[in-house]
Amino acid sequence: MLHKIRELAKVNHQKVVEFRRYFHMYPEVSWEEVQTSERIAKILKEMGCENIRIGFGGTSCGVTAEITGSRPGKCVALRADMDALPIKEDTGLSFSSKNEGVMHACGHDSHMAMLLGAAMILMEMKEHLSGRVLLIFQPCEETALKICGADQMVREGVIEDVEAICGLHIWSPLAAGKIGYCSGPMMAACDAWEAVIQGKGGHGSAPHETFDPTIAAAQVISSIQTIVSREIDPQSTAVISTGSMQAGSAFNIIPDKVKLEGTARTFTREVQDHVEQSLRRIVEGVSQIFRCKADFRYAKYVPATINDNRLSILIKELGEDLIGTENMEEIAPVMASEDYSYYQLKIPGVFFFLGTRDSEKGCDFPHHSPKFNVDEDVFVTGTSMLAGFAIKMLISTSNKSIS
Ligand SMILES: [Zn+2]
Ligand SMILES: [Zn+2]
Repeated sequence: MLHKIRELAKVNHQKVVEFRRYFHMYPEVSWEEVQTSERIAKILKEMGCENIRIGFGGTSCGVTAEITGSRPGKCVALRADMDALPIKEDTGLSFSSKNEGVMHACGHDSHMAMLLGAAMILMEMKEHLSGRVLLIFQPCEETALKICGADQMVREGVIEDVEAICGLHIWSPLAAGKIGYCSGPMMAACDAWEAVIQGKGGHGSAPHETFDPTIAAAQVISSIQTIVSREIDPQSTAVISTGSMQAGSAFNIIPDKVKLEGTARTFTREVQDHVEQSLRRIVEGVSQIFRCKADFRYAKYVPATINDNRLSILIKELGEDLIGTENMEEIAPVMASEDYSYYQLKIPGVFFFLGTRDSEKGCDFPHHSPKFNVDEDVFVTGTSMLAGFAIKMLISTSNKSIS
């Protein structure tokens, strides 16, 4: 059966490349993936998929569809994200973006193409499917400032009767063709914090008549670094960064207030809550020491991506059989974030990286770079892993063995 998956992945490869290049040429940013959704729905319809639904969150963005196997059984989901980024492409590719200032610079064009490729394989292998496969094409992964696509689709009941979910991300730090997998925490939670430190402004020559908020802000920035170094267990992981600092308007004026903004990345609820409480304590306490008043806000944006142990083993074993042990790499968690975690809050899920780094092919630029490109040869691995997961998972839920 795995042999057939591999064969079909190779046969369909050119088609998957065509899908990817089309999506690459017509990128759309978060919650604007209207034409992309139409295109995907059309392809799924032509393929013969069932229950095609377009439009989530009151928009025309996002698509779900089903493939029903020959035998009855449970339902498993495969997910791809769809959005591009507000970046001006600088790859020089013949299929470069035709939408000025918008680019698929994270690999989501490849994710959609590979999920369509997996669907093509599954349609050909319905007799091996004991149950249903739900295909999720999800809008808006890239920005946490709007409600993210995964959260929205979960709220709309997309995964209501789904047993397990699998997704992948093209990964430029990993060599082309390799799979990066891990059990448990894989990607961090992404939070944002904001502190407005209110003092009393005045003339730069008369600081004694002011409550200088820049001094308080400077102390806050240094002091919050002790949260990770002195308060969090060294065996746990956290990042606290200050990304923006706004104060003042001229060289001889002590400003009224300073605004600081930053992010925090953590893996567990316990550490996340600790970071929030300590940030608040330090921001408010330090401001008070310097006779200022602080307004502190903390927003929990995207939860951590935590892989189900049983499903991680399934991915490891599937990968070893499909592409060989030498191409399976157990990876350490990364501090970047993924809204895929919203599915995992509801049902067991697994996420893995598909390596695409190949310097000879010019595919070694980081994600979100205007020169970002992927090695299309890895699509064979991506489509077979997704299709293989669905088949293997449905077999395991109906207690049959795979050969
Ligand atoms: Zn991205
Ligand atoms: Zn991405």
